Amino acid sequence: MSDEQELGITESKQYNTGEWYAEVVQKAGLANYGPEGMSGFIVTRPRAYALWERVQGYLDGLFKDTGVQNAYFPLFIPESYLEREKDIVEGFDPEVAWVTHAGREELEERLAVRPTSESIIAPYMAQWVRSHRDLPLRVNQWASVVRWEATETKPFFRTKEFLWQEGHTAHATHDDAWDETITRLDQYESVYEDLLAIPVLRGAKPDHDKFPGAHTTTTVEALMPDGKSVQAGTSHHLGTGFAEAFDLTYTDEDEETQVAHTTSWGLSWRSLGALIMTHSDDQGLVLPPTVAPEQVVIVPIWQADTQEKVLEYAEGIAEELEDAGVRVELDDRDERNPGFKFNEWELKGVPVRFEIGPNEVDDDVVTAVHRPDGESVELDRENIAEAVFEQFDEVYAKLYAAAEENLEANVREASSRNEILGTIGQHGGYVKAPWCGEESCEEEIKEQIAAEIVMVPLNDEESEIHHDEDCAVCGETAEETAYFAKSY
Ligand SMILES: [Zn+2]
Repeated sequence: MSDEQELGITESKQYNTGEWYAEVVQKAGLANYGPEGMSGFIVTRPRAYALWERVQGYLDGLFKDTGVQNAYFPLFIPESYLEREKDIVEGFDPEVAWVTHAGREELEERLAVRPTSESIIAPYMAQWVRSHRDLPLRVNQWASVVRWEATETKPFFRTKEFLWQEGHTAHATHDDAWDETITRLDQYESVYEDLLAIPVLRGAKPDHDKFPGAHTTTTVEALMPDGKSVQAGTSHHLGTGFAEAFDLTYTDEDEETQVAHTTSWGLSWRSLGALIMTHSDDQGLVLPPTVAPEQVVIVPIWQADTQEKVLEYAEGIAEELEDAGVRVELDDRDERNPGFKFNEWELKGVPVRFEIGPNEVDDDVVTAVHRPDGESVELDRENIAEAVFEQFDEVYAKLYAAAEENLEANVREASSRNEILGTIGQHGGYVKAPWCGEESCEEEIKEQIAAEIVMVPLNDEESEIHHDEDCAVCGETAEETAYFAKSY
């Protein structure tokens, strides 16, 4: 096989999305599968970890601006702690990995590898909170959790261990906890819309699909190009259930003991899966400049007699961009021709390529090529740093617009069971339908085409649109609007 073939993506995004995704992840150098006998685990390679660090840095900044402090809790949770909150145990039971031995000794109490950390964080928050003056209390941890699901591995979408952040807060009132829940949902929306160029829908999970024990689970959902929805981040209003189970109480201004209201919220590296899946194409990875490890690659094009002046010109530009804070790579490898370099950097998803040959040097310009669509623009050498940021904005806008077009074209309505099945079967995407609120009606759809209710509207206006119509599945009076979709 020649180098060119090894670089190329052979699967089609449109016709073979799953295989195409796996190939992009491998060939763009993002992840490897874990060792034999450990299916469901992946190795995150530096290029993917760099993307995660961008998400992390952005979100961590938003958290810290809004009163969140980072902390770290143990990887293991004693079984008795998990059991204090029965809903959690029930919700995660089949997915919990247990440690039973330390060396050769059997442990007196087995330890769960955290599937989420409410049950180990809440007892400590209970110790830290005494009076209303200690509230609100907000802690976040960047960590990994383990959920031993027996599904097929899909890097960043479905893995037994995954990276995430989990925030946990306590508040004096129900309304304060609700404001917190929405603040975090807003921030998750911003990660997708302002950093990853992916528009999302906001909503709540239906009651039967909430976080175990939660009052309300809110969600942002992103539509993938194959018509499936990704639960892209969730923020839970936990009510007082957890606080009661873990004695998280405070004394109010009248010295009365009150139970706190808590929230938890998490965003995982699934965001990377959505990023890769949404923008990439049959040439490989496509990234917005906001997160790309290299924002610009400079490929000099020379003959023996022009090499020196082209290289010098290119180096000057690279330096200027670097000084301006641009992540820039000058690919001056002698043993590779420009065509090879173009393919390689396209595969790796560098959003803007500068082509610099003798003509560019003579005319004092740079040819800039946009990765998503190959559009090429001539930029003046003067003010090149300013011009490149404009190019970044244009590339970002193109990616966002394409994703938005896909989303807008794929929210449809249905008023009967067959219409739901037919529409999702044919087009994928979201189908809005009047729903009575019964899980059994979702089950009927699930059994037929593996689509579920991914969300119901958060605002009253939208949820009342279908109020008093007939449930599309059973014909009883509808309580709200349901968004049906297949999901990751
Ligand atoms: Zn129904």
